Amino acid sequence: MSTQFSKCRWTLAIHGGAGSMRRGELAEAQEAGATAGLNAALDAGAAVLETGGSAVEAVQAAVQVLEDDPHFNAGRGSVFTWEGGHTLDAAIMDGASRAAGAVAGSTTTRHPVALARAVMEKSVHVLLAGEGADQFSRDQGLEQVDNAWFGTEERRQQLDWMKADTARGGFDVDMKYGTVGAVAMDAAGHVAAATSTGGLTGKRWGRVGDSPLIGAGTYADDRACAISATGSGEFFIREGVTHEICARMRFLGETAGQAAAVVMADVKAMGGVGGVILAAPSGELDWCFTTPGMYRGKAWADGTREIAIYEDQR
Ligand code: ASP
Repeated sequence: MSTQFSKCRWTLAIHGGAGSMRRGELAEAQEAGATAGLNAALDAGAAVLETGGSAVEAVQAAVQVLEDDPHFNAGRGSVFTWEGGHTLDAAIMDGASRAAGAVAGSTTTRHPVALARAVMEKSVHVLLAGEGADQFSRDQGLEQVDNAWFGTEERRQQLDWMKADTARGGFDVDMKYGTVGAVAMDAAGHVAAATSTGGLTGKRWGRVGDSPLIGAGTYADDRACAISATGSGEFFIREGVTHEICARMRFLGETAGQAAAVVMADVKAMGGVGGVILAAPSGELDWCFTTPGMYRGKAWADGTREIAIYEDQR
């Protein structure tokens, strides 16, 4: 593995979803609120890493902050399903052991990423779905909330607009990405990734996106890197985006950034858009996206920080 990035004790990157946000078009309150949320999430993850915590603990801490923040489509602030409820997907993966846990269609756990972690550490399974995931969450004593707690007025309006706009035929990039994720390298040189989402506005029939699918929306491997994705999930599933990036690094010797550029271009050629954040054991910390914007941030052990939303801030 290249040593060109190996100067950092730890690294952390987060995203709050890729989408069509353009400078000047986003409401000021959304821009300021999302920026504050990204900062708070970096604070939470950095606090873990700074005190010697693991990458797994750090990505969970960062994602939980974003799950509680209604500016993002995960936890509170999740989009509405067609039926007017919320079904939440999340995953977490430890690059050191390649242990992974995920949930699809959970409905009452306040922090779905905590449930994914419990699946990873307290069950022999990798992915639990629906009522079973809710049951496991209660059995584990995780914090429960009423399903309506996840909704906001703005998200309700987005569902109404979507239902009114039949010409578009449903899922489009504006409706409404905002999935959250985190990747980190800890002081021991291990990486981890976590992703959490409410999915797509108006989703039906138990639709599950890429976020909780290991190798599609979430993956971590100390031999390559940790990745969390956001975007048009169906395409990310078909490409196997996060595993494909790791495979290119391992077998072709590409950096995370190089591999991600190729894979995201391939997704685009198929008709999908979105983005990824990447943290490698080499210290490489990067992102790559094919949308006009992606809520995103990076933090390093020396206190340096970067937060951005728009494409021209690349
Ligand atoms: N990838 C997510 C999904 O398809 C959506 C997003 O990233 O906003 O569920």
